[in-house]
Amino acid sequence: MTERFVAIQVGAVSFVDEGVSPVLDIFQERGGVNALFLATPTWTRGTGGRQLPDLPLPDHGLQEHDFDWVGGNYATVHPEFYGGTMLGAAGRAPEHPGWDIFAEVLPEAKARGMKSIAWIEESSYAPELRRYPNFPKCLEVDAWGRPAPRFCFNNPDYRTWHLSIVEDYAKSYDLDGLAWCSERPGPLNLLMQGPVQPSGVTCFCPHCQKIARDRGIDVRRAQEGHRKAIDWNSRLASGDRPRDGAFVSFWRLLLEYPELLAWQTLWTDSQRQLYRDIYGVAKACKPEIQVGWHVYHNISFSPFYRADQDYAELSRFSDFIKVVNYDNCAGPRFHTWVENICRSLFADATPAEAYPLLLKLLQLDEAAYEELPSTGFSADYVRRETERAVEGVEGRCHIYPGIDLDIPTRHQGSARRDKPVDALGTTGISGGVSNDAELAQCTRDGVKAAVLAAFTGGAQGVVLSRKYSEMRLDILSGAGAAVRELS
Ligand SMILES: [Zn+2]
Repeated sequence: MTERFVAIQVGAVSFVDEGVSPVLDIFQERGGVNALFLATPTWTRGTGGRQLPDLPLPDHGLQEHDFDWVGGNYATVHPEFYGGTMLGAAGRAPEHPGWDIFAEVLPEAKARGMKSIAWIEESSYAPELRRYPNFPKCLEVDAWGRPAPRFCFNNPDYRTWHLSIVEDYAKSYDLDGLAWCSERPGPLNLLMQGPVQPSGVTCFCPHCQKIARDRGIDVRRAQEGHRKAIDWNSRLASGDRPRDGAFVSFWRLLLEYPELLAWQTLWTDSQRQLYRDIYGVAKACKPEIQVGWHVYHNISFSPFYRADQDYAELSRFSDFIKVVNYDNCAGPRFHTWVENICRSLFADATPAEAYPLLLKLLQLDEAAYEELPSTGFSADYVRRETERAVEGVEGRCHIYPGIDLDIPTRHQGSARRDKPVDALGTTGISGGVSNDAELAQCTRDGVKAAVLAAFTGGAQGVVLSRKYSEMRLDILSGAGAAVRELS
């Protein structure tokens, strides 16, 4: 059989701190790794920079936090590929100027027979993106017609900017693949799954409005419906309960404003069209390049987001899909997620009451609700979700589950010490239980079990996540132990 694909996500800082050869040695020897997901561009601590500033550093790398980390493009910028977008080139990260992650890493990875994939983060909520000239001209628009602080998928300049990065990387470097990451759930999912910021419920920009009109959707009624849904959401968040209950009053809104559903589908299609464009553009530049996506953790938690992310449809424009199956941090994250939805759509129930039904809807079987933060999810969760994905894509693309190696369970924000953590109304998984309770921690055996479970579920590979700079070495060895057992 073909060799199992074992990738690891790694940012520029690790190679700069520890050296390219020593890092690749560790990956091969400890993790059984044969592929790299190289994070660029990225503006999020999820994949860029060292360990989160308020957590202990792992047992490798420079023992110093990078409080002023900003992020950006860690490859050389080739301005000729960025024509036609007012955002200009994907600018160099201020860290490691003159150091090109692809130029430094690709030759040695290739010599070792390791594949190299560019991990492209959309990072749409990152405040650093606001530094871009003309940023305000590419923004989403909220239900009151006010610009919101994120790029819109349907904005031509934003689309062109992303496709320019794809062309730059595909043509300038000998990459084996591109992986694109966008952690956004869409307006209706946000409204249902917890308290929202009104500016998070989007998009009604002129480009989205035009697509809506082409589909025969009444834009005025859609905006009105969203304004009423935001009012419903904020009433529930403040503890107020409609006489007919949270769920019935929400369903009535859907009956009165089917445009709410239509707009969520418009949103999902728009994100998917950017996938299709990235896929086609990358292949046009380099036919053999492998193109795939990160499907974020909400697919494990939200039946509504899961319904949007139809694997059969995704497989029509994918060579691979990295499905987030982070088992350990899923415990604290889902605990928070259930708490949040019980402040919105399921406000008629307590989290402990809603949780067993959610498990059934999601085809999961995990620990009792109150134990979740300390137990995490099981390896069996990885197997179940992998099987579902493998069956879903019907053999048209590969499934590479994302495996949890020391993903923080306390602090999910992208914050530096001097900037605020993003509020709810963004990815919806800002989560993390914020008290000092004993939270689940990754173990060597747990990681080994998760990797084995992924392959038992039929995966063609795994992606060790989220970034090497937050993983302890012994935890990485757990993945290697699984790979050796399988070979
Ligand atoms: Zn828009």
